[in-house]
Amino acid sequence: MRAKSTELSPHSQKVYDLLNKSHKPMSAYDILGKLHSSGIKAPPTVYRALEALVERGLVHRIESLNAFVACHGDHHDHNAKFAVCRNCGEAVEIDEPKLTKLIAELGKKFKFHIEREMLELSGLCFACSGKKA
Ligand SMILES: [Zn+2]
Ligand SMILES: [Zn+2]
Repeated sequence: MRAKSTELSPHSQKVYDLLNKSHKPMSAYDILGKLHSSGIKAPPTVYRALEALVERGLVHRIESLNAFVACHGDHHDHNAKFAVCRNCGEAVEIDEPKLTKLIAELGKKFKFHIEREMLELSGLCFACSGKKA
């Protein structure tokens, strides 16, 4: 279950609000830059806030970009999958239970104990592919 936002620390809440407003992934330093005026001035503060948010499933880390994005899906697992536009940077969360099931089946098939799933698709979003055509 998702934790209520009232249980978040004030710093985590600020970081979450910022990410939630943006559909584009932000690095810890982007976040630090934006929140500097609201009293978050040290990188460890941002990292701690992000860690708490990732743990609660409110925010996902996009490994290939080393950036963070708010969860807009309705799933309760931490293994988010993303399609990331290489032109505008928009990250679309792929919330597809069939894919999660398939990955679990593949694990069984290859007798592989999967601990983390990272699936990141790179390409052009709808808006950007229209512009290039
Ligand atoms: Zn999500
Ligand atoms: Zn795009």
